[in-house]
Amino acid sequence: MSNTVMLECSCGTVKGKLEVVEKSFFHVHCLCCDCQSFASHLNNKDKILDEHGGTEVVQTYPSLMHISQGQDKIACVQLRGKGLYRWHTTCCNMPLANTMNSPKVPFVGVSVKLMKFASEQQKMKILGPVIMKAFGKYAIGEMPKDAHVRFPLSFMPKIMGFMLKGMFKKMNSPSPFFKENKPVAKAHVLS
Ligand SMILES: [Zn+2]
Ligand SMILES: [Zn+2]
Repeated sequence: MSNTVMLECSCGTVKGKLEVVEKSFFHVHCLCCDCQSFASHLNNKDKILDEHGGTEVVQTYPSLMHISQGQDKIACVQLRGKGLYRWHTTCCNMPLANTMNSPKVPFVGVSVKLMKFASEQQKMKILGPVIMKAFGKYAIGEMPKDAHVRFPLSFMPKIMGFMLKGMFKKMNSPSPFFKENKPVAKAHVLS
């Protein structure tokens, strides 16, 4: 079963869609300091983070995400020389997604803020509940009761299975963020 969710940045310049496919995604919260730093870099913490400093993400395969409009408003940062590519819009400084710094890895963490739902009920029907909150030790204020202190080891087999399936089915490509194996925008390294 799959559902199409429309994607749109907060100013409406960047648009696209995401196929939310059963058993091919994880609906999670990340409370880590890197996600918070990224939101600070975009100067948009109020719009991006929840009250605990968490970022809501759907982790899925790049080939399920399409950007149809506003490609020239896509930029990329890396918090340090290695590590995730953090993609964002330049029109309204909203996060788009995280990817690995290689086009070969079948992984994209799509910002839920981009997703258009008719209602909370529709969102719940399509994404289901948040299944994991990671890096609660970086929470702003009190750590949410259902958060893990770090990344839960119990989640690793799920991620491994997801990655293997993605590699086998070549779900890394096409990606909205890599064309001919090159990133669509040069990563700007912070710090
Ligand atoms: Zn994070
Ligand atoms: Zn925008």
